[in-house]
Amino acid sequence: MKDVAVIGGGLAGLINAIVLSRNKLDVILFEKKSYPFHRVCGEYISNEVIPFLKSLDLFPEEFGPSRVSQFQLTSVSGKEMNMPLDLGAFGLSRYAFDFFLYKKALEAGVDIRQNTRVEKIDFKDDHFELESTGKEKHNCRIAVGSFGKRSKLDKYLERNFIQKRSPYVGIKYHARTDHPADLIALHNFEGGYCGISHVENEVSNICYLTERDKVKKFGNIETFQAEVLFKNPKLKSIFENADFLFEKPLVINEISFETKGPVEDHILMCGDAAGMIAPLCGNGMAMAIHAAKICSETILEFHSADMEDRHLMERAYAKKWQKLFSRRLSTGRNVQKLFGNKLISNVAVNTVRRVPPLAKAVMKQTHGEYF
Ligand SMILES: Cc1cc2nc3c(=O)[nH]c(=O)nc-3n(C[C@H](O)[C@H](O)[C@H](O)COP(=O)(O)OP(=O)(O)OC[C@H]3O[C@@H](n4cnc5c(N)ncnc54)[C@H](O)[C@@H]3O)c2cc1C
Repeated sequence: MKDVAVIGGGLAGLINAIVLSRNKLDVILFEKKSYPFHRVCGEYISNEVIPFLKSLDLFPEEFGPSRVSQFQLTSVSGKEMNMPLDLGAFGLSRYAFDFFLYKKALEAGVDIRQNTRVEKIDFKDDHFELESTGKEKHNCRIAVGSFGKRSKLDKYLERNFIQKRSPYVGIKYHARTDHPADLIALHNFEGGYCGISHVENEVSNICYLTERDKVKKFGNIETFQAEVLFKNPKLKSIFENADFLFEKPLVINEISFETKGPVEDHILMCGDAAGMIAPLCGNGMAMAIHAAKICSETILEFHSADMEDRHLMERAYAKKWQKLFSRRLSTGRNVQKLFGNKLISNVAVNTVRRVPPLAKAVMKQTHGEYF
């Protein structure tokens, strides 16, 4: 029997696996895809994670991540406000970052099963029984659910949020543009918003969130962009002058911001599997990394028998998770409502132009602090 099974090898899963394996636990990690691969993500990573990553030799300096220190917000009609970022961020593609962490996990001795989906998980007699691709069976003492925003496993576990369909889709490009390397810009358009910032090698990440039906109405993504995004002059200029690096954009459906929970069926949920913050906050990855920190620390305490039983471990993790993330998630849901509407986005941009501390206060509510 393995000590820990980590289900899903994104940031939350890989970091849990590395920390636990380096602390001599026997860890198996399942990832349904094969590294390296691209993901739909804005790839803007809040600097709050840097001390933690550096303390574990997990900061991916060698890729030359971009350094982001300025913020620009535009309304649907292109009205803009600019301000410096207090905390700032770095930009790195998930293709590079996840692959880097995957190699660190191998070095740490994690048993990594790629191209392997966990299909079933059941808790029996104080341990978990898993079934993965090819009906392979595995047993483990502790299970970390780091399978992201939406997985077939959520259906198997009959989690509440999965019963509701979500209208949101995410669409991402990599491109060469003249966008400044130190700037993250968030451009509103009717029914959504689009972020642009740099990753490594002076490549721009252009990533937007909108509703599936709004795109469908125009028949295809290109027409939707021309008819809707381009009403914002900033977006028109970015798209018309960009040299796109993918043949087609990457698209994901059913992005849900519903409340989930940090422990379900005795599984310690981590990262987006526990709750997803609206992408415009630019904080989902930092939250996944921070959640992996507290999750792995709690497992280590339990494993070294500082906690007598599983319920104490679950309660301790849930308490730490709620304290760190509950308020950020609900603020993110509220801020999201200000985006994608012509009138509201104009009022929001005008208001923060007149009262800059307001924008700083909102950012503070959705971001954490260095850890
Ligand atoms: C449009 C958009 C833009 C975003 N932009 C940003 C941004 O700029 N900055 C930011 O900080 N955050 C951003 N986010 C959020 C960020 O991408 C997530 O919060 C982050 O990826 C969460 O990491 P994770 O490890 O929890 O999940 P993921 O990175 O999604 O990893 C989950 C992994 O689990 C695997 N998996 C799923 N089911 C199974 C299974 N049954 N068996 C095995 N493997 C499985 C998946 O293949 C995946 O690799 C954005 C999100 C979206 C949708």
